[in-house]
Amino acid sequence: MSMIQAPRGTFDVLPPDAARRAVLQSHAERILGAAGYRRIETPTFESTELFARGVGEATDIVQKEMYSFDDDGGRSLTLRPEGTAPVCRAYLEHGMHKLPQPVKLWYLSSFFRTEAPQRGRYRQFWQVGAEAIGAATPETDAELIMLLAELLQALGAKGIRLRLSSLGTPETRAAYRDELTSFLRAHEDGLAPEVVARIDLNPMRAFDAGDATTRETMRDAPTLLERLAGEDVEHFTRVRELLDDQDLAYELDPTLVRGLDYYTRTVYEFTSDTLGAQSGVGGGGRYDGLMEQLGGPATPASGWAAGIERILLAAPDPPIAPQPVDLFVVLAGPGAGRPGFGLVQAARRAGLGAQLELAGRSLKGQLRQGDRLGARYVAIIGDEPLISLKDMESGEQIEVEPQTVVPTILRGSRLA
Ligand code: AMP
Repeated sequence: MSMIQAPRGTFDVLPPDAARRAVLQSHAERILGAAGYRRIETPTFESTELFARGVGEATDIVQKEMYSFDDDGGRSLTLRPEGTAPVCRAYLEHGMHKLPQPVKLWYLSSFFRTEAPQRGRYRQFWQVGAEAIGAATPETDAELIMLLAELLQALGAKGIRLRLSSLGTPETRAAYRDELTSFLRAHEDGLAPEVVARIDLNPMRAFDAGDATTRETMRDAPTLLERLAGEDVEHFTRVRELLDDQDLAYELDPTLVRGLDYYTRTVYEFTSDTLGAQSGVGGGGRYDGLMEQLGGPATPASGWAAGIERILLAAPDPPIAPQPVDLFVVLAGPGAGRPGFGLVQAARRAGLGAQLELAGRSLKGQLRQGDRLGARYVAIIGDEPLISLKDMESGEQIEVEPQTVVPTILRGSRLA
């Protein structure tokens, strides 16, 4: 018998790769956790109807990419091809609309699609994703985009670009779809046969065609961005202002289409120039209509998913996530050891990252160590009753009672 191998399109995660994945996860935990996102995990398989809802545009995933099977009771189940619909199902099933909104969730899980395998494209792959459910504001979209940008930057992903667009509301999109379909029908002579064949299935795909004739024809095609109206324009303008304020570079791409049918308004995709054909690192957008499609009340929501394998191809050596040090305690006198020890314990109980000089360094060496650790504050304990607390960012130094050190830092980091 020949040796059994892992199924086509799957791979083993061996220790060196597992270590890199752990680094990626710790960055995601830190960046998303700091923004109030909490981890969620949903089942590996779901009822098929969660993904094949039979409404909206024909999507590639629903068309041909799902691993579906019948269980013993004849129910159709599907290995999850994506994370958003399961997270929304969980939101509805557990009555999360009763929690303060938005409910901000993140996941890191594996997904399954029956795609033709190639570099960066697998049949089982991992995604990190974030969803903010119950918020309609453009700030929510902009914040999510910033979070993915920050994650990619923290990991050192190379050649990253952001493409941004808006799909408007389903009504705008439906009217535009008709307009585009008419345009394509009227210009069939200038389109490749495979583009003509897909006109009714998904006319937007005509913008992705590679051949010169189709590209030439599509230059005159109407774009959806030109057809946005009213609040859709306001929403999109605001998202752009917020990103501009943060100097986050993006290209407007009115032809951006996402693989799933439930997006409304803001959509985006991060790509990496280092990845070749499969250049998509992650993407997402607003999906205000999905909850209703799932049988729930109308609930605005927004989110993204990014592929772990692609991120690690673009960032082969992610730097280990820094552990924030809020306080470093410097011992500056023979009697400082016991109060210093007590101070770090109190700081840690209050949730601060705190470290104590343990190596017997000189005063100068200790100050250097506090600096090297990137400590936000350094407390210098001498033989005096008061403690010198130095804000390492501003350089400001104050004398405080021992019991006020922790509250001062907490106040300072809240203001920061
Ligand atoms: P999507 O859910 O299709 O929007 O994909 C989001 C991200 O997941 C993509 O940008 C890729 O990084 C990653 N991804 C999607 N499909 C695959 C796949 N078959 N293999 C590896 N990564 C994938």
